[in-house]
Amino acid sequence: MVYYTAMKKPAWSILPDEWKPILTDRGLRAFRADQILQSLYRDMILDWDSATTLPKDFRETLKEEFPLTKFEVTAVSESADGTKKLLITFADGESVETVLIPARDRFTQCISTQVGCAMGCAFCASGANGLVRSLKADEIVAQYMAARAYGDITNIVVMGMGEPFMNYDETMRALKLINAGKGPNVGARHITISTCGVVPGFEKLSQEGLQFELSVSLHAPNNEIRSTLMPVNRSWPMEELLETCARYTKATKRIITFEYTVVAGINDSRANAEELARQVRRVPMAKVNLIPLSPVSHRPDFKTPDEQTMLMFLDVLMKNGIQTMLRRSRGKDADAACGQLRLRRIRQDDSTCA
Ligand code: SAH
Repeated sequence: MVYYTAMKKPAWSILPDEWKPILTDRGLRAFRADQILQSLYRDMILDWDSATTLPKDFRETLKEEFPLTKFEVTAVSESADGTKKLLITFADGESVETVLIPARDRFTQCISTQVGCAMGCAFCASGANGLVRSLKADEIVAQYMAARAYGDITNIVVMGMGEPFMNYDETMRALKLINAGKGPNVGARHITISTCGVVPGFEKLSQEGLQFELSVSLHAPNNEIRSTLMPVNRSWPMEELLETCARYTKATKRIITFEYTVVAGINDSRANAEELARQVRRVPMAKVNLIPLSPVSHRPDFKTPDEQTMLMFLDVLMKNGIQTMLRRSRGKDADAACGQLRLRRIRQDDSTCA
């Protein structure tokens, strides 16, 4: 028994290509791999008893050795624009949010990589109480599986709770699985990872040879402002971050999108926009997404800028030759207090673009 317990491997942590060797290692028949994959990712089973194409005794083996991660959708809130936020609770009672964002030509899911977050960005609700724990790959995949009950997910953004580069291995395993042809098969270019600027993660990602999109939360035009909003800036200041971004775009030929949350009176002046343009120009193939702050209850002093300020900021960046998009939050009425799951990757939502 001890032997088998040690061998337990959550099914949603196994990449499609790994099934055959894992099965044969355990004296199981390799041809079962394709049947398993069909049950998992075509039929989208949530428990092995539903895999009725497999013999019953084999299902018992699968249950024992490759459990399907238990989760419950413990809350669903829907906003007027069709955005749904699900609260997913795991066996240990910890929960994360995942958000489903419908649009004309896509259905985007925003997923979480950690319960809470250690990064402590000033305006972020998820980090307000620190990190509880990182998610395992199968728990990240479980969010995708939960979402499939609501429709075919075409795009994934890793912009939920947590910092993906602080949980690099598990996050990458989950994304590779979701991307796999014999898995859910969500295209790599439809998967966006967002980091607050954990520099070692860039090097690792550039060596993966994958086509995932990368967003970097910048939120400030200089170290002085950035360090007050984002403690991570004290570990990896802007010069180092921007140099790393430049190396990344040169090595991978992939675009980087800088996220810039505009906070009234903090980072929203014309001078801030001009300085931001100078900084961003140091990175080839960089774009900027401007997002108005979503108010958060733990920082009532942070205010959302008015439309005019957003347009001024956009105008300055564009006049400086920076490709810029203005985004709007979606799903606000689903949970107004949540600034983290800002729902903004949707083309129909873009009010302006360069
Ligand atoms: N840790 C990663 C991904 C999660 S946060 C990162 O930092 O990129 C996803 C995005 O939401 C980040 O750009 C983050 O700074 C932003 N965000 C957090 N709280 C926000 C708020 N109240 N208003 C607007 N954007 C916010």
